[in-house]
Amino acid sequence: MENSLTALEKVILKSKGVTDEMLVKFTELGITSKESFSVVGDAKTLSDITGLSPENASAIMEWAGVQSAAPTAGANVTTGPGGTVLSTDGQKIVVEDSSVIKCTHCDHKQPHDYTSGDLCPNCGKQAEPMTNCYWCYNVGSGKFCRSCGAEYVKNLDYEIAVLLKREGVSKREIARELAAMLDSEKETRLTQLRSGRY
Ligand SMILES: [Zn+2]
Ligand SMILES: [Zn+2]
Repeated sequence: MENSLTALEKVILKSKGVTDEMLVKFTELGITSKESFSVVGDAKTLSDITGLSPENASAIMEWAGVQSAAPTAGANVTTGPGGTVLSTDGQKIVVEDSSVIKCTHCDHKQPHDYTSGDLCPNCGKQAEPMTNCYWCYNVGSGKFCRSCGAEYVKNLDYEIAVLLKREGVSKREIARELAAMLDSEKETRLTQLRSGRY
């Protein structure tokens, strides 16, 4: 086992801001190989014990393949030398906000506690049109039923959709059949429905 850093390692460390005096200190501290940095543990500690700037220290830790502290959310506190607790500032946690609901009438963002059917605080209308599911009879918003996954149909087509279901048309086919159906055909269906033949 080497008892000092190799020439190459020294050159690399120097390129990252390490001076000759620091190299001597590294040896005193027992930092004699690239692997030694994993014993040091993190850039803050390295900077504390060697006098390196935090930037240089973290560049060295990165080169040595030592995970920087707190790379993930929820672990943004780390224990420093002497048991002090260091918070790693500047860690921005970006929350993917794909669940934002906008009012279909005025495009106003709905509050975080919004639930389907709420009225828009900006314009007072129902933020999303609510649709009855012809398949499972849940009420919901959007394009598909959140309960059974059926594709919603226009309100006008609702009764026919229920009829098609009764006729045994599959959940996936109903919206497609309706889209392909002529208005006259729909009227015939509705007349049949209302005449009580179904
Ligand atoms: Zn609105
Ligand atoms: Zn449904």
